[in-house]
Amino acid sequence: MENRKPLKFFVVSIFVLNAFYIILLFFGKGELFPIKNRELFFILAFLAYLTHSFGRARFWKITIVPHFFMLFPMLALFGPIPTSLVAYISSAFAYRKNYSIQRRMYGAAQYGISYYISGVVLQMIGPGWIGLVVSMVVFKILNSILVDMFYDYFRSIWESMKKVVENFLLEIFFFSLTIPIVLIMVQSKNPFTNFGAIYMLTFPVIFVNLMSRQYKAIKEMTLEKSALSQTLDRLKRIFEVSEMLKSNISVVDLMNRVASIIHTDLGWEYVLVSMITPDNKVERVSSSGISTEDFERLKKNPPSFESLKSLMKEEYKISNSYFIPEEAEVYIPSDEAYVGEYDVTDENSWHEKDLLLIPVVNRNGKMIAIISPDKPKSGIRPTFDDITVLEIFANQVMIALENSSEFETLQEKALRDGQTGLYNHTEFYNKLEKIVKEEEKFCLIMMDIDDFKLVNDTYGHQIGDEVISYIADVIKSSTRQKDISARYGGEEFAIVLRDLDKKVAKTISERIRLSVAKGDSQVKITVSIGVACYPTDAMGASEIVAAADKALYMAKMRGKNQVVLASEK
Ligand code: GH3
Ligand code: MG
Ligand code: MG
Repeated sequence: MENRKPLKFFVVSIFVLNAFYIILLFFGKGELFPIKNRELFFILAFLAYLTHSFGRARFWKITIVPHFFMLFPMLALFGPIPTSLVAYISSAFAYRKNYSIQRRMYGAAQYGISYYISGVVLQMIGPGWIGLVVSMVVFKILNSILVDMFYDYFRSIWESMKKVVENFLLEIFFFSLTIPIVLIMVQSKNPFTNFGAIYMLTFPVIFVNLMSRQYKAIKEMTLEKSALSQTLDRLKRIFEVSEMLKSNISVVDLMNRVASIIHTDLGWEYVLVSMITPDNKVERVSSSGISTEDFERLKKNPPSFESLKSLMKEEYKISNSYFIPEEAEVYIPSDEAYVGEYDVTDENSWHEKDLLLIPVVNRNGKMIAIISPDKPKSGIRPTFDDITVLEIFANQVMIALENSSEFETLQEKALRDGQTGLYNHTEFYNKLEKIVKEEEKFCLIMMDIDDFKLVNDTYGHQIGDEVISYIADVIKSSTRQKDISARYGGEEFAIVLRDLDKKVAKTISERIRLSVAKGDSQVKITVSIGVACYPTDAMGASEIVAAADKALYMAKMRGKNQVVLASEK
């Protein structure tokens, strides 16, 4: 996996650096403890530990390591080996929470090496101001290579080079504050001068730490401010859409608005809103950030609902939505993979093939639409909060869809037979089963056109179709709004007459039969009808159909063009 590489590289680097440092200590230049002034050594060592525990100071564009102010004088006074050991130990054991062992080991080795090598350079040139400047620059370069460059290994090296050079001089400026103090310490034999010098060294340390704190506070405040105004902005948009819901706006217009809000205000480059039709087809309805041609192309090739559904696995669920990462593997936490305290966003970056699906679910729990935003402008994968905001808009789309007559028509369309506008076979059974559970009483009419083959044979199929439409019209005009009329088969019809008993059902059936028989169409046709009632004739959905069917068969047997009740034997 691509995202495992940094961790491996990091671990290998830790081993290599530590091994290299140990080799330097054993075979390198310098004595271990040529220490005359022990008090001074331990004070500086203690202060080095303290400054290590403070961590880096960051302000403007620069990053200062405050321990340099303590360890650099040590280099001049005590040589490379004791200083680098202090650097190593104080870095490894610095008092800092959330500082992983890997980072400690890496930091310790790289500081050990940087201080050691710059100390050797200082020894070679001598502790005059030239030596001090050169070894300071050497330290900064080594430190840059080992930390900044290492970190930027994962990004672009060139970008990092630019950054390093830019900040180099500023950082050197702060470090150079140590030079006059170190010169005094190197030349002075007086312990009081040395303590005074150490006292002076604490000023730049305190200064850079204060700067760092203030910088952090300002940065946080700015972030909070922008987050606040962003929240306000989002609330305004939510309110705007809520107002739209009250007006008579069409669903498609509302979806377009929601798509454009997600695009402009929530910062997603592409937004696609698709509707799920009742027969589970995905229909692209609106988009934002996508060119008209591209949207037309997308419209023509919608994914199947099943394929979308198969992506919506529990493991990808965030809130009520689904985020499917490009790599279906969880990525490594930042603490493990990176050096330094940079705001690492890399592993949170939005990947090309990441997928975010915000389902729009109606009150019955059925998915009726999907919002899929792609490519956040921030380049960062969405947080839980980002997703929650998107879900608010999804909810508004849901309300719009549910209230919309357009949507109803569209939904109804799929439930009905295209030719007659009556319910289709499947929906007839769905409705019948529901009614069996809920209703106290109802009657089912099964109807079949008599000798329809003959009609087809004599007049042709086209006329046959017209006859079917005509019968459907008769049924529609003979039934009430609450009754359920369906095209059960080719030339067979089923009608559920609700909340009435056999006697009335028979009257209605006769009315239909007579209406067809004396019909004003060019073709003379008749129908046969079977009637069964719930709960007197049967108790279940399929039983009642069977009973009505049987009655219909009887009607055919007895000579057609008549109504037979299931109870008549
Ligand atoms: P019966 O009186 O026994 O019902 O005789 P029938 O000829 O009507 O027999 P049946 O009910 O089995 O009729 C089925 C015929 O109906 C077969 C088919 O050609 C015709 N048919 C079914 N659906 C359609 C349709 O949508 N359009 C047309 N034109 N004909 C259809
Ligand atoms: Mg038939
Ligand atoms: Mg027939």
